[in-house]
Amino acid sequence: MKATGCVRKPDPLGRIVIPVRLRKNLGIEHGDDIELFVDGEYIVLKKYTQPCIFCRQTEDICEYRGKHICDTCMISLRYYDMIKGLYKK
Ligand SMILES: [Zn+2]
Repeated sequence: MKATGCVRKPDPLGRIVIPVRLRKNLGIEHGDDIELFVDGEYIVLKKYTQPCIFCRQTEDICEYRGKHICDTCMISLRYYDMIKGLYKK
């Protein structure tokens, strides 16, 4: 884990501001969802990524017809469609 040098005091409602520099570096824009994790004594914030509808992985996700699918599952689907197409003929 890398220190950012930023220290923030939560307001009475527990809110803190994530510095614009960090938001830009992490690709977090206004309206994005942020997911919170707890790891021991650490609170980790991460830009929320819809998981793959098949394997629940959150890496290399693309959207296809409104569904979020990872590259691995997309390749499997294309292979399945190709095989299925071969047997139809
Ligand atoms: Zn997947």
